[in-house]
Amino acid sequence: MSLKEYQRKRKFEITPEPKGEIKKISKNRFVIHKHQARHLHYDFRLEMDGVLKSWAVPKGLPEIFGVKRLAVQVEDHPVDYINFQGLIPVGQYGAGKVEIFDQGKYKLIEGDKNKIIFELEGKKIKGKYALIQMKQSKNWLIYKMKN
Ligand code: MN
Repeated sequence: MSLKEYQRKRKFEITPEPKGEIKKISKNRFVIHKHQARHLHYDFRLEMDGVLKSWAVPKGLPEIFGVKRLAVQVEDHPVDYINFQGLIPVGQYGAGKVEIFDQGKYKLIEGDKNKIIFELEGKKIKGKYALIQMKQSKNWLIYKMKN
């Protein structure tokens, strides 16, 4: 894990986003940001390995069984991003409004390089989910599992 890509993409004298650092401990939290950028999408972030592993989910996490949604992996974000909300200025990377859609804790059930199964305990989003990487690409699928 590394925050190099995250930090390279941003000008911290302009954006209100945290510069951040890699943390030694993980509290098993997650956040879903609603990000009104050029296209509205949701950013799903899992606190893992000292960073927030992050995926852009165009349509948000499915709340019913049998629906598979695309989740595009993006650069690791700093753990300090977990409470971030604000306006990324015009001209900056990810320009637009960022709000917290939901947050809470998760329980890791299976953590593999290309397959992560976890249970979310958020206020809105709850239950067991799978994230499966497709052909070593940035594209993953996320779906809700029966418990
Ligand atoms: Mn985003």
